[in-house]
Amino acid sequence: MEYISTRKQVPSVTFSKAVEHGLAPDGGLYIPQVLPDLKPFLNQWSTLSYTELCKAFFTQFATDIPKDELYDIIDRSYVNFDNPEIAPIRKLKDDLLVFELFHGPTLAFKDFALQFLGNLYEYQIKVSNKSIAVLGATSGDTGAAAIHGLQGKLGVKSFILYPHGRIAPLQELQMTCTGANNVFPLSIEGSFDDAQTAMKHVFEDRSFAEEVGLSAVNSINLARILAQCVYYLYAFFRLPSLQQQSFNFIVPTGNFGNVLAGWLVQKMGVPIRGFKIATNQNDILHRLFQTGIYSQEKVSPSVAPSMDIQVASNFERFLYYSVGGDGEQVKSIIETFKQTGSYVFQDFDKSSFSSSRTTDKEISKIISSVYKAYSYVVDPHTSCGFKDLSNEPSIIFSTAHPAKFPDTIEKAIGIEVQHPSLEAFKGKPIVNYSVEPNPEAIKAFMRNHINF
Ligand SMILES: *Cc1c(COP(=O)(O)O)cnc(C)c1O
Repeated sequence: MEYISTRKQVPSVTFSKAVEHGLAPDGGLYIPQVLPDLKPFLNQWSTLSYTELCKAFFTQFATDIPKDELYDIIDRSYVNFDNPEIAPIRKLKDDLLVFELFHGPTLAFKDFALQFLGNLYEYQIKVSNKSIAVLGATSGDTGAAAIHGLQGKLGVKSFILYPHGRIAPLQELQMTCTGANNVFPLSIEGSFDDAQTAMKHVFEDRSFAEEVGLSAVNSINLARILAQCVYYLYAFFRLPSLQQQSFNFIVPTGNFGNVLAGWLVQKMGVPIRGFKIATNQNDILHRLFQTGIYSQEKVSPSVAPSMDIQVASNFERFLYYSVGGDGEQVKSIIETFKQTGSYVFQDFDKSSFSSSRTTDKEISKIISSVYKAYSYVVDPHTSCGFKDLSNEPSIIFSTAHPAKFPDTIEKAIGIEVQHPSLEAFKGKPIVNYSVEPNPEAIKAFMRNHINF
């Protein structure tokens, strides 16, 4: 299988190259050249364990990695999950299920992709004998998951930018108390947007990228999207058989990476009924799917901080398929959006999708009402999935463990939620570094700390 850029200005590459680069050299995002038809496999795959399913799925995509190496990478990626099912489903009532994606080491769904990506990098370094420097920006969960996926990996140095004082306190502990000497949490004065902008400028410096072996851990990296496809399949196979095709998949959404993975699985022939994009008060995607207008507003900090995003980078992949694979058109739409902050779609095809928006006030009310009805505690991101529930059978994706956001939970239901893996961080020394949110300062810091 080869991988092409959504802007189609550069030649196709192998799976390993697409993973190594993260972003395509023409500024586009990598996608598979063709989407395989999974229908013929569905019967055979339906009873596989999580890791077996992951192996079967990636055999279709990671065709340039020898099978035994690939299987070993996958086996090692899910051993640090604290539930034997890896991704268990919790039944609240017959037609209302919660898909718990928070059993990984940092208690958010990002672990599914970043544990795998860390092992993949390690394998690639072994093969190419070339070190890499990972640079990412985070509003909390990506950074924690990336740091845990990459800590202690030989030949990898990771640099994660985060906005000082604007991530949840426990998320900061997860990033800064690991004791690993190959990870550098970089605190910047400014917002997540400032961090992300500075990061993008560093990636644009191609000679620096070559010099340090720069790679991306944000969900622009295709390996992350593909690793997330696996749990959509896994959930689909576990739905009640008579209703399998009537469940709606409800996904708390920020950067459009998670729900895109599900939509791709549907495009590969898996008869998932449809998806609901559940946003918080940062609702650019909700507005798009309601009106066909993609228009950026200022980020408004919320109690579901990992969804405080206005420009959904993975939207470009969806766009590629919406315009029938016309790379020029993708490029021109993205450019118009960048210049003017908005784009109006003429006949926007939103089949398979519905959407909702949840304010901070509503998040708190939902946490409380779900707890009253089912004695079940949902985190602020997951709670957005409960907004405007219809009578259709629904499976709500739970993207984080509530213990990551104890203040919001305590305010809503008066209960202090804890998790042993978070307790372990409390009181440990914090190691972080301050840098200016500008590309030159970040590059200088990276050069000084690489010493390959
Ligand atoms: C990252 C994140 C999201 C948003 O996922 P996207 O792939 O960016 O849409 C939702 N909830 C939590 C807890 C997250 O960490």
